[in-house]
Amino acid sequence: MVNRELEALLAVQADDAAIREIEARRDALTPRLALLDATQKRAVEEVARTESALERELTRQRVLDTRLAETRVLHERSATALANAERLSEAAAAAGQVEVTRRALADGESEALALARRVTDLRTALAAHREVLAQVSTDQGDARAELERQRASIEAELATARARRQLSAAGVAAGLLSKYDRIAARRRADALIEVRDFCCSACDTAIPLQRRPLMASGSVIEPCEGCGVLLYQRAST
Ligand SMILES: [Zn+2]
Repeated sequence: MVNRELEALLAVQADDAAIREIEARRDALTPRLALLDATQKRAVEEVARTESALERELTRQRVLDTRLAETRVLHERSATALANAERLSEAAAAAGQVEVTRRALADGESEALALARRVTDLRTALAAHREVLAQVSTDQGDARAELERQRASIEAELATARARRQLSAAGVAAGLLSKYDRIAARRRADALIEVRDFCCSACDTAIPLQRRPLMASGSVIEPCEGCGVLLYQRAST
């Protein structure tokens, strides 16, 4: 009775080991994908940063253009006022105004030149960053497709292994299975351990003398007093 259950639980354990191995292969794909994502993210951010810098400069350019147009109107108005001045005091005031607006125009125009240079530089940089991004996407295309192919195949393997495990588990009593599950989850390794020379092969703790005959009969599955794994012994040994 216990023997049949022992064999069933050993089958579950073998299935679990296979599942852990498949999961480890699946998890190993994650950092490779993360590396691709990080490279792409950097390229995307570079493009976005340059785009917004360009947008800021273009806005400043529009504001400056408006201000320059207004200053030009003021300048023409004061030049007209100077030309039409009839009294000396009027002429002096208009000349002062002409000078102020002339200087404002000169300042605005040199600022416009500097802005235009920055806009040109940013457009050049943006084109370069976009090219890098396109190159990264092209380069990563194959790598991503390969990773995706591997992931899909591993997931399929995992589904098969889990289905097999479910079948194996059907042969084990619910109480024993949940005890096994708890220990296996904690250890992330085998929970059902064979007794060797009346010692637990996981922690080397000796089986107490009074428990040995029952253990040797192969009819019990009992927890190790040292590490808590489930111990079994085959009747023949
Ligand atoms: Zn032990």
